[in-house]
Amino acid sequence: MRNTQVFLRDKNVMQKIISAAELKPDDVILEIGSGDGRLTRELASCTKKVYAVERDLNLIDASKMELRDLNNIEFINDDALNIEFASDIDKVVSNLPYAISSPITTKIIYFLNEHPGSIAILMYQKEFGERMIAIPGIRDYSMLSVFCQYTSTTEKLLNVSKNCFKPTPSVDSMVVKITPKNIRIDEGFLSFCRAIFQHKKKNLYSAIMDSREKMAVHSKESLREKLNGLDKDLLKEKVFLFEVEQLLSIYRAALKLGICQESA
Ligand code: SAH
Repeated sequence: MRNTQVFLRDKNVMQKIISAAELKPDDVILEIGSGDGRLTRELASCTKKVYAVERDLNLIDASKMELRDLNNIEFINDDALNIEFASDIDKVVSNLPYAISSPITTKIIYFLNEHPGSIAILMYQKEFGERMIAIPGIRDYSMLSVFCQYTSTTEKLLNVSKNCFKPTPSVDSMVVKITPKNIRIDEGFLSFCRAIFQHKKKNLYSAIMDSREKMAVHSKESLREKLNGLDKDLLKEKVFLFEVEQLLSIYRAALKLGICQESA
């Protein structure tokens, strides 16, 4: 696990993260993977409270020592994927452990969506960040892009060179801002998108046919019949060209026709 511990050493980047977070004296912050506590200090110095989650007990002990002059940090020595986020959190600001990018982003976004006014400023591996913000038609546009853009506004704030970290990792990074749309997340829609995005380079017709075990109708014959009810031009379009709004209207039409189902 040691190799996932790369610490941000560039003061300039650190400052950009802090200013993007627009920290206020009464803010409660969640930091995931607080490491040696460098970012934690900046966060705690100008806010009400920081929850610092770090799985490595040695790092918790070392940063407790290092930050002993600050009394508004609650250290949580646990896996960030296993804990329930405290409901008073306003902002999530972290240089994330990249190995858990996918599940932790899902968890953060579900949390933000239930907390209007909350935001997240997060450091990711560059390639992951690119997939979060990718627009339809480009290779990086994927289920992750659809999930992020359906639930939130995701913006790239800055690229961060691998040289800003110690030890120097093999990958570059990117800071992303997530502002939730505070919607009721429709699991049926997400399942539908997940199914067709497994065939994202195919046209919609083939993508639905090829993922029919995930649809409401499994037999080729009856699915083909139901697909007659969908717009012909849409069926000919490649899946990765659809933006979220179009996917939503396709899903609603497919739902009415009994092609897919609402999530239980
Ligand atoms: N935030 C620090 C360090 C980032 S590196 C900095 O900016 O310098 C990522 C940190 O996440 C490491 O300290 C690692 O021990 C920790 N970590 C890795 N997986 C974790 C998990 N599942 N839950 C909590 N912390 C984790």
